[in-house]
Amino acid sequence: MSAKKRVGIIGAGIVGTALAYYLSEYPDMEVTVFDKGSIGSGTTAKSAGTVCLFDDSVSHEFWPVRLHGFQTYTAMEREEPGSAGFQKTGTLVVATDQGVEDFVKKGIQNAIAAGYTGEYWTDGDKIHKIIPDLTLEGVLGAGYTADDGYFDATMISNTYANKARAKGAKVMIFTEVTGVTTKGGRVTGVETNKGPFKFDVVVDASGPWARQTGRLTGIELPIWHTKAEVFILEPQPKLGYLFPVLKYPRFYARLEHEDIFICKAHLTMNLSDPQHAGIWNPDDLPLRGGAEEYFLNFLFDQLEQYYPRLLSSGKKNDWVGYRAETPDFLPILGDSPVEGYLLNVGFGGNGVIEAPSAGVDMAKYIATGEKSALIERLAFKRFETLGHNPFEA
Ligand SMILES: Cc1cc2nc3c(=O)[nH]c(=O)nc-3n(C[C@H](O)[C@H](O)[C@H](O)COP(=O)(O)OP(=O)(O)OC[C@H]3O[C@@H](n4cnc5c(N)ncnc54)[C@H](O)[C@@H]3O)c2cc1C
Repeated sequence: MSAKKRVGIIGAGIVGTALAYYLSEYPDMEVTVFDKGSIGSGTTAKSAGTVCLFDDSVSHEFWPVRLHGFQTYTAMEREEPGSAGFQKTGTLVVATDQGVEDFVKKGIQNAIAAGYTGEYWTDGDKIHKIIPDLTLEGVLGAGYTADDGYFDATMISNTYANKARAKGAKVMIFTEVTGVTTKGGRVTGVETNKGPFKFDVVVDASGPWARQTGRLTGIELPIWHTKAEVFILEPQPKLGYLFPVLKYPRFYARLEHEDIFICKAHLTMNLSDPQHAGIWNPDDLPLRGGAEEYFLNFLFDQLEQYYPRLLSSGKKNDWVGYRAETPDFLPILGDSPVEGYLLNVGFGGNGVIEAPSAGVDMAKYIATGEKSALIERLAFKRFETLGHNPFEA
């Protein structure tokens, strides 16, 4: 047995590459990452990459995770401009009900305490200074910060992969893991289309493929898919102002060059609605297209109500991504029922935000055996009594 701990990671999306980097910082780790495609080519490539300081994507319980994600990527960008693809557009979070208003106000307090700016406005003129053509009927107010924006999640994955390689990790692209080998109930390695590899620990970071990957060890992971339909709209005429990340409770939008990236909000998804959720094969997703009629109707309704200006846009591009969801919409970190097979999966609509904290904590667990509060909180065992059909969950 080699003196170093040999760790194999399945998946070189933002979650797998972040883990590879943090593991490679421990001198006694020998790290290999496999991806059947290229780096960051899965869900990560379809992502909006927003890491906002106080939208409602991540509950306040996970504020340190969100803050750590934001600070990690902005530090990456400072160290090497472009390496995280940061676009500092700010964010406007619109509250249409009391719950969101309370959430945003608390989020602003957190952001200010961490040294960022943030204000909550009920004055329509202030909101219109940021986005002049929003309809404010039915809007209670909006939170605004100029400090955040969005990142390029594939760029970040490549940066993490390069940093991990510089510290000795191997990143094997176009290498599919086809089997996980075990002896006496313990993981011993993986089989791939490029041959077998021996490992002491294998980590599943395969995003929406995690159900299939888990089955390689005989585990049925409670991971479903929700559809994330994206439209790239070309406003006509052009906007003529810096469009911030715009968050409504039911949809969000951000700049994409001079166009608008628009998507249904993650938390509007219902795992028991077959239009939203199911167990699908991510390999069947086309690179472009695939949005269904229910999404178009939803989007037109929302735009008509809140931002009619965009209804006259041209459609430049569209695609569908699958978010890997668990029944409580939180990831699964740490041990699985198979010894030596660890989980870093189920990041749903927040994998960009959460990858750095998950990576740091998982690396520490693998290297030292020490479980963080986050790993305890997000352990697989919270689902052990669940059925595996989403419509029973
Ligand atoms: C439209 C959309 C918008 C989003 N917006 C945001 C956002 O604004 N902010 C945010 O934080 N999150 C957002 N998300 C969510 C975020 O993108 C994901 O949570 C994150 O990218 C998941 O990363 P991952 O590494 O777990 O999965 P993936 O990026 O899917 O990576 C998994 C990798 O595993 C590889 N793989 C699978 N099976 C195998 C195998 N057998 N062998 C080898 N390799 C394998 C795949 O090729 C893939 O590259 C969004 C998602 C979508 C779809």
